[in-house]
Amino acid sequence: MDQPIGGFGGNALHDSFHRMFEISRAEPPPTLEQRQDRLARLRALIKDNEKRFEQAISADFGHRSSTETLIAETLSLLGDIKHTSRHLKRWMAPRKVSTQLQFLPGKNRLLPQPLGVVGVIAPWNYPLQLTVAPAIGAIAAGNRVMIKPSELSPHFAALLQETVAAKFDASEMMVTGIEAGVAEAFARLPFDHLMFTGSTRVGRIVAAEAGKNLTPVTLELGGKSPTIVDRSADLDEVAPRIAYAKLMNAGQTCIAPDYVLAPQDRVEALAGKIWGAMQQMWGTDPANPDYTSIIAEHHYARLKSLVDDAVARGARLLQPASADDAAWAGKRKFPPTLVLGATHEMKIMQEEIFGPLLPILGYSEPTEPINFINGRDRPLALYWFGTDDTARDQVLERTVSGGVTINDCLVHFAQANQPMGGVGASGTGAYHGEWGFNTFTKMKPIFYRSPYNRFADLYPPYGAKIARL
Ligand code: NAD
Repeated sequence: MDQPIGGFGGNALHDSFHRMFEISRAEPPPTLEQRQDRLARLRALIKDNEKRFEQAISADFGHRSSTETLIAETLSLLGDIKHTSRHLKRWMAPRKVSTQLQFLPGKNRLLPQPLGVVGVIAPWNYPLQLTVAPAIGAIAAGNRVMIKPSELSPHFAALLQETVAAKFDASEMMVTGIEAGVAEAFARLPFDHLMFTGSTRVGRIVAAEAGKNLTPVTLELGGKSPTIVDRSADLDEVAPRIAYAKLMNAGQTCIAPDYVLAPQDRVEALAGKIWGAMQQMWGTDPANPDYTSIIAEHHYARLKSLVDDAVARGARLLQPASADDAAWAGKRKFPPTLVLGATHEMKIMQEEIFGPLLPILGYSEPTEPINFINGRDRPLALYWFGTDDTARDQVLERTVSGGVTINDCLVHFAQANQPMGGVGASGTGAYHGEWGFNTFTKMKPIFYRSPYNRFADLYPPYGAKIARL
């Protein structure tokens, strides 16, 4: 197709946007067949370049487990596209809405319409998933899409730009450059909808910029996702599930369990079992190809400072090696670290960890975890383990979070029919499946008047007509 490759900064960015914007206003909404064709091209883009994406993402990380790229990015997206294509006809159909008695036999309908041009700003941690999944919803809803990948994923960004340009006209979907200044300029464009995935700090900036254009935003942000282990839980079952979710992508997962709350007298036993499960799954050799590197030096240094601060304040560590060990640091692989005796004053309990560090804290009363969680920002995810349904339901009723998995971690993200999104500081709005379609759609309410409606009975002069109401 005719897209230029390379920087899309400065004027090129504005020109691309305005072309897309004008076409979105000039042309009728894409038909079902056109949308399905775009989804099919997106699918082919992923399938044809599966290995290249895997390599590009790995080059950006230093090393990224190829299996994790396959599971968490490629296969998950192909499943999303299949699900969306299969249900799109029904989602696009006008929806019936009931009509009050006094307006019968008139009728109500909701007409789903594309918004126009959707902007997508994505992070680096699952770069393919978090650029393409929003695009699936936006394309399905009939929009045109501009994507801004992260500057920490240069190999991936160049490949996405090249492959999108090969399969799509620049007025359908395009990928911007990632050079300095593009992110800020992108957030200032008057999109019909802006979808941002990234940190809460940058989310605030993006929301403020979008607000100046009255551009609605979906914010998929981060935060500290708690895991509660109830007294009724079987620690042998719990441990591998937490260990897996924490070390997948070396903890650089927005919905990774950030910290664990366990009954005080079971903390040691749980830590021992999680530690054992981590060693069984990943071993202690930094050369293990299943274990992913930390994306950049400054993130490695940030994780080290969280550990140093915790130790300086009296925490105890379970670690296969120090983060300064050359075999680990040289590959930017951060040794998996369990942190015992963590306290609220420690930095590790104040900011999102986003790495393979897991503080395990003890509680005495069952209501303590609820109060602890409710005293902080609303989390993106919450995990609860146990068999006591009353204790479980109390946590479900009394805490508010973006999503929940019971007796496992991460799995709610993979549900095709569930909305993915945060609440409060962890985000606003949601997507995935029909929820994504709805997010990028204007549901236009329409009332069809019937010849038999007798509204004229109420026209002035009102006189006694109104008195009869
Ligand atoms: P980040 O906020 O630093 O960057 C995200 C994106 O914002 C990047 O593309 C970046 O270039 C862009 N950006 C930076 N400054 C900008 C500005 N002033 N205006 C417009 N855009 C700007 O986040 P990150 O480090 O890439 O990703 C990690 C964070 O993302 C974590 O907090 C994680 O929890 C969160 N996250 C959330 C989800 C979710 O679904 N809720 C998924 C993945 C990651």
